[in-house]
Amino acid sequence: MGKSISVVIPVYNEQDNIEPLYEELKEVLDGLNLEYQIIFVDDGSTDESCEILDGLADKDPSVFVIHFRRNFGQTAAISAGFDYAQGDVIITMDADLQNDPHDIPKLLEKIEEGYDIVSGWRKNRKDPYLTRTLPSNIANWIISKVTGVYLHDYGCTLKAYRKEVAKELKLYGELHRFIPALATEMGVKIAEIPVNHRPRYKGKSKYGFSRVFKVLLDLLVVKFLLSYRTRPIRILGGMGFLFFILGAVPFFYLILKKVFFGASIGHRPLLLISVLFLLVSIQFISMGLLAEMIARVYFEGQGKKPYYVRYIKGKSL
Ligand code: UDP
Ligand code: MG
Repeated sequence: MGKSISVVIPVYNEQDNIEPLYEELKEVLDGLNLEYQIIFVDDGSTDESCEILDGLADKDPSVFVIHFRRNFGQTAAISAGFDYAQGDVIITMDADLQNDPHDIPKLLEKIEEGYDIVSGWRKNRKDPYLTRTLPSNIANWIISKVTGVYLHDYGCTLKAYRKEVAKELKLYGELHRFIPALATEMGVKIAEIPVNHRPRYKGKSKYGFSRVFKVLLDLLVVKFLLSYRTRPIRILGGMGFLFFILGAVPFFYLILKKVFFGASIGHRPLLLISVLFLLVSIQFISMGLLAEMIARVYFEGQGKKPYYVRYIKGKSL
């Protein structure tokens, strides 16, 4: 295995965890006989994390630290780590010692088998059940159903990626939880393996219960990006048709009554409803067409391609 690896670790106020994590990680990485680098991304920490990390970088050339100017969130931290990583395989893990560095060799083995992303599954999760594990189980089930990428544990940071895949990911907001689903648009092979999970001994979790709702909204975005980004008219136009039928059927029924039976229809609520639905249908269809134009601006304006190449065979020029 001539591969090199980069370990990317987002850090936000983890002063008591950094050194024990570093020691443990170092021991595992040294045992691998591979070239490696440890990239800590200091996400605007306000405790001693900043100084501790710089201290590690001073004494160990394999430590690389990126300091953010302020707290940008875990997704931005992971994304910066991907940008700077040089290893052939990139591993992400939490800084709070909840992930176990001893799982890294297992992840690498799976990558060697040919997978592009290997995701950890905290099978025996050590977080409070009602407020953390249960909501997360439900979220995992919903995300799997909606995206069609079935994983037991979307929330586990401990993952391994082939460099080519990680580098292509465009991560915004808090989308790091959806990486496996987002990556399917590139056509990747994903494996999930059980990993160890430990309680958080030091420092506080950075997320509360409100995460559940944010995750559901993010899921809506992910579903749209995965299914309809390149053809928004399918979703908006579809709703437009639906409302057109809902509006047109009663509308023509009323017109017939008026024309053939001379009934007066001006006072009927049904008329109001059918006109409303007809207007809504026009709105949806025109929004769909606008979205189609925006999608084109999105792809063409940023030079973003609607495809990803796995490899190219043969010489160019
Ligand atoms: N983290 C970060 N920026 C943030 C929030 C969290 O870099 O704004 C880091 C945090 O230091 C930890 C990891 O992301 O290394 C996961 O955070 P946490 O342990 O709080 O999440 P939980 O395990 O509770 O889901
Ligand atoms: Mg944690």
